[in-house]
Amino acid sequence: MTLPVVPLLLDGVFTPSAGSMSLEVQNPATGQALAQVTLATPDEINKAVTSAKNAFLSWKEVPSPERARLMMRYQALLKEHQEDLARLLARETGKTLADARGDVWRGIEVVEQAAGISSMLMGETAENVARGVDIYSLIQPLGVCLGITPFNFPAMIPLWMFPLAIACGNTFILKPSEQVPLTPTRLAELFMEAGCPSGVLQVIHGGASHVQQLLEHPDIKAVSFVGSVPVGEIVYRTATQHLKRVQCMAGAKNHMVIMPDADKTQVINALAGAACGAAGQRCMAISVAIFVGEAQAWQHEVADALQQLKPGLYDDPDAAFGPLISSRARARVLDLIETGKKEGAVCLLDGSQATVDGAEDGHWIGATLFTGVTAEMRIYREEIFGPVLSCMEVDTLDAAIQLINANPYGNGCSLFTRSGAAARKFQHHIEVGQVGINIPIPVPLPFFSFTGWRKSFYGDLHAYGKQAVRFYTETKTITTRWPEESQPSELNTTIQLR
Ligand code: NAD
Repeated sequence: MTLPVVPLLLDGVFTPSAGSMSLEVQNPATGQALAQVTLATPDEINKAVTSAKNAFLSWKEVPSPERARLMMRYQALLKEHQEDLARLLARETGKTLADARGDVWRGIEVVEQAAGISSMLMGETAENVARGVDIYSLIQPLGVCLGITPFNFPAMIPLWMFPLAIACGNTFILKPSEQVPLTPTRLAELFMEAGCPSGVLQVIHGGASHVQQLLEHPDIKAVSFVGSVPVGEIVYRTATQHLKRVQCMAGAKNHMVIMPDADKTQVINALAGAACGAAGQRCMAISVAIFVGEAQAWQHEVADALQQLKPGLYDDPDAAFGPLISSRARARVLDLIETGKKEGAVCLLDGSQATVDGAEDGHWIGATLFTGVTAEMRIYREEIFGPVLSCMEVDTLDAAIQLINANPYGNGCSLFTRSGAAARKFQHHIEVGQVGINIPIPVPLPFFSFTGWRKSFYGDLHAYGKQAVRFYTETKTITTRWPEESQPSELNTTIQLR
């Protein structure tokens, strides 16, 4: 059977790459080949950048309300195709339909935000800062921007980037994860259908060497990256070395702190979903539960709840989560589970042997729970990115805060309690950028920004919201004096009054 070839989007045209290197896109639940993605050639990358640079000259002159209308049409098309997109996404990632629908929806919300771009591009004005002198600022686009996205949210994360960048008046090159190119390519098709002019969005498929070429290209002004910490560090260093503006949203190790006064049923439900949803392949997944004082007694009940969560195919209504993305990702998680056992953590629930009937070639790992985890263990220090929950015990909230602040990552964390004082102390002292109080996965809505800290973020301005508008624009400050030539006597009076 001939597989469909995933095209590039070059200069307004969807076209298969002329390159000779191809990868197979697979359904990770079954191993079934879905498509072939041919990686872009160096010439195609150069062509994409040149086309985006040329398109910028006219796109930046399009009035912002008109650019906003493109986003409104795009939002309507995305909503119309929401279910097809979710099904496509579920097939290439293995996510359950519920998770896939969430992935698409959280992206649509950012497009809605981009549709209100005009008011976000308003500068500031101050009159009479000196006699007869006014100052005002203009917000202007940068030029060609680049987005590099990971496998785990193939709708939401590309939509964090190109709609806002383009609404600001930039042109954009998207380099999606080569493991999941189908959903981002479909997003681009719908964007073109919504009326995006030729060259304003380009899609390039490829891996490390393609990113490297793009990062070194002098015509790319800003780089938005989402992915793992090691790759984020490479991207940040290379892009800044080439004098580009950069934001890198990277890996994570997210903690949930459970106080003994919390609602036990809520805690158990929240923990199960936050640790195993999307097979733990979320940058905001809870991978560490810290039980404070008497709450330690709840760990067995949490393990019982996790045991109820079964992996399965995307359209199986009983499936709680899907497979890992690849055999490599599965092998890594299995290695970490074995390491946890060797390091002395107690594996109360071991999902390493999980299989799914009729899908034996899938990259399955079942829900796994360790107790007695300590800060020195590898399963605590490293991002696992699988349905594996590590449980730790401390005596006080202060000790929990200290533990989290000593961890190098700072993406998300949460506290479950009935005490306002505990909640306030936690939110004030915790050195993590996104905090949930009785909310397990506190991903901010798009009118805020996605504010990871420390090793989970390199850069200054964060993804989406007002910060992203600042990221994708320059501020120009104009100082004006308009003397009234015909009235010299008035000018003299003004001077005397000083
Ligand atoms: P990854 O770092 O392997 O890949 C991300 C992107 O970088 C892909 O497009 C890939 O092609 C490219 N890439 C890979 N190696 C490269 C190299 N050497 N040089 C340049 N580019 C390279 O990440 P992944 O496995 O696709 O995604 C999972 C990771 O992303 C996890 O660590 C997760 O925590 C993180 N993530 C973070 C956030 C956030 O907002 N902080 C959100 C989602 C995912």
